[in-house]
Amino acid sequence: MKNSLILLVLCIALFGCKKSATDKSGETRYKGNEYNAAGISLFNSSHQGEIKKAKNVIFLIGDGMGLTQVSAASIKNKNELFIKQFPVVGIHDPQPSEGIITDSAAGATAFSTGQKTFNGAIGVAPDSSSLKTILEECEELGMATGMVATSTIVHATPASFISHRPSRKQYEDIATDFMLTEIDYFVGGGKKYFDRRSNDDRNLVKEMQDNGYVVNDYFQKDFQDLKIDTKSNFAYFTADDDPIPVSKGRDYLMAASTAGMEFLKLHDDPNDTKGFFMMIEGSQIDWGGHANDADYVISELLEFDKVIGEALRFAQEDGETLVLVTADHETGGMAINSGSTVDSLKVSFSSGYHTAALIPVYAYGPGAELFAGFYENTDIYTKLKAAMGMPANK
Ligand SMILES: [Zn+2]
Repeated sequence: MKNSLILLVLCIALFGCKKSATDKSGETRYKGNEYNAAGISLFNSSHQGEIKKAKNVIFLIGDGMGLTQVSAASIKNKNELFIKQFPVVGIHDPQPSEGIITDSAAGATAFSTGQKTFNGAIGVAPDSSSLKTILEECEELGMATGMVATSTIVHATPASFISHRPSRKQYEDIATDFMLTEIDYFVGGGKKYFDRRSNDDRNLVKEMQDNGYVVNDYFQKDFQDLKIDTKSNFAYFTADDDPIPVSKGRDYLMAASTAGMEFLKLHDDPNDTKGFFMMIEGSQIDWGGHANDADYVISELLEFDKVIGEALRFAQEDGETLVLVTADHETGGMAINSGSTVDSLKVSFSSGYHTAALIPVYAYGPGAELFAGFYENTDIYTKLKAAMGMPANK
């Protein structure tokens, strides 16, 4: 009785999937979009609707990227964004363990560990005990792991995937935590927290080099000029402290993200069997929101969107990569007001901080269907693990 019920449910599930994969109305809806001409036509992709394991995950976090931020960038870009090509969209609730408005530390810790925690917490539970992160779990399974951010690499979002500290401001302590997990590839600012520390005399750049990392920085070489050897672990510092905004000349996000995808695919694994987990953060969309500067928000978001496009291309070619895009929270209470035109958006902000707005999630690739619907920010962790076929309980 029980078995036949499971079988019936399975048949319905399979039938449902097959039907949606060949949905004619979906085909018409996406036809004529110029992005399709560029090779991103995901709605009819052969990968869509298949139930199989995601070997690789590219998790893109647009810090502070609520729906209005996406709307503004879309209008400014003639209504075209790669983010609008995702076939599966869901919504998460970003509330932290205390209060209703999250910061990036609690927000990213929810994604990386599946547990709600307090604002400022980096990879720790409400009682400040360490929680293993999804990046650490992937590393333990022998997968390649990487992170790219447009903030310092010890800033709240990337830190929450590799570090365990009760305060996001413990930048030097967070840097030492990078020595404890063998992350294979990372790019971001904050070099001074590694090699000119005030709390101790450790030179973490030297320690990394002794541990087999190839470490470069923006003083020595532009990212674009690097020849990256996939055999060694790789780190690149883009600034001593915070990287500059894209509008002021920052130009590494695309290069570091695309090089990272190729690197992680083949790192220590020429036959591409193990898979990888990569987190890419568009960190400064949030900073534009804090500054109530619509142009800052839009320029950062448009750069981030192009990286999303490259992740989608990679996934479409690869066929075994889940691309997930979301934000930790909205920043600024941004609104596009009446009187706006394409050439002149009338944008206002209701806050200099984050808001409690619900946040969209965009998914493509194996396991993408898990991300449809309405859920907690912590479920992103659970769903990512389910998509990768990893056991649910730690
Ligand atoms: Zn913020």
